[in-house]
Amino acid sequence: MSNDFKKEISAMEEEIISLRRDFHQHPELGLKEIRTSRRIADYLEKTGLAVTTGVGQTGVTGLLQGAKPGKTLMMRADMDALPIQEKNQVSYRSENDGVMHACGHDGHMAILLAAAKILNAHRGEISGNIKFVFQPGEEGYDGARLMIEEGVLENPRVEAAIGLHLSTAMPVGKIGIRNGAFLAGSDAFSIRVYGQMGHGAHPESGVDAIFISANVITSLQSLVSREVSALNPVVIHIGMIKGGTAGNIIADRVTLRTVVRTLDPELRGTIQQRMDRILKGITSAYRGSHEIRYLGGVGPVVNDPAMCQVVRSAAIRSVGQENIHIPEPSMGSDDMARFLEAVPGCYFSLGVGNKEKGYVYPIHHPQFDMDESGLVIGVDTLVRSALGYLKSDGS
Ligand SMILES: [Zn+2]
Ligand SMILES: [Zn+2]
Repeated sequence: MSNDFKKEISAMEEEIISLRRDFHQHPELGLKEIRTSRRIADYLEKTGLAVTTGVGQTGVTGLLQGAKPGKTLMMRADMDALPIQEKNQVSYRSENDGVMHACGHDGHMAILLAAAKILNAHRGEISGNIKFVFQPGEEGYDGARLMIEEGVLENPRVEAAIGLHLSTAMPVGKIGIRNGAFLAGSDAFSIRVYGQMGHGAHPESGVDAIFISANVITSLQSLVSREVSALNPVVIHIGMIKGGTAGNIIADRVTLRTVVRTLDPELRGTIQQRMDRILKGITSAYRGSHEIRYLGGVGPVVNDPAMCQVVRSAAIRSVGQENIHIPEPSMGSDDMARFLEAVPGCYFSLGVGNKEKGYVYPIHHPQFDMDESGLVIGVDTLVRSALGYLKSDGS
């Protein structure tokens, strides 16, 4: 087996960058990745993979069957852009007003397409299958769930998953891999607080839903500070509040929107019931009532140590031991979590930051851009991870 992929991959560097720039110029929002999905399907077909389109609306998969039978690994790239007006003045600037690849998913797709091409050229050395999964709607559309519901993990059954996210917080040439919880789960709730309308001059004539809500907002934070270990991070963010009709009327209802984040799947499972208990206590103490409704979310991204070892061994060969970092967990989230709940896997960070060149803006920023020389490193690590996994039986 040829272990020197660097040459093969660097011969593709121009193509990888132009793929990324093409996606960047034509960004599409979640579940509307029509052009993007066509482009991916064409590329995979030309590469010689078995392509399935329309998996979870605009999702695409390419199946590579190795020369010998074996396990099935999936590798995932997300496809969607964000509703952000790009502020970069570059030749490959977004052509879609108000839409921008500001989360690096353009780079993820380019990397995975190149990895598919290289791995397909090495079909003869592969025992098992690789499913290249291009997932739509990562930015809050739960595209991973849609793909899973439509059977992306079956036929052949996926046994492990690998994915990466670009990061400008890390210099180009560095790779971040963390065992266990890496990104937080994130769940959205709608809370209604009910009172009774009355004249503002006469408190006895009503039940003030705004006053009750003020207490609810402060009391919900006690869940973080007074109920959960200080070593177990939780964020309860109330980002929206609506209620009342006039300054001299007692409001009869208030709506709150909250997003709760935690790295701990077990704690996550108790959040709604804990919030409900606090809401019940506070609202009834002040003669009101409440309703709480779950609006959806995803669990934490929890990496499997054995799969991380597969990726780490590959990454060491790509960039050297001294360039492997263990990143802190982040309270951000990613629906890669859905795949990692179903099969063991590793979601890792690839550095594309470069202070000298000005690639310093974080993801979701209108000036986000990347040091594209990091893309080939991503391809190298994915290719080596796939071959490492399908050779080593994942152990
Ligand atoms: Zn994002
Ligand atoms: Zn992202």
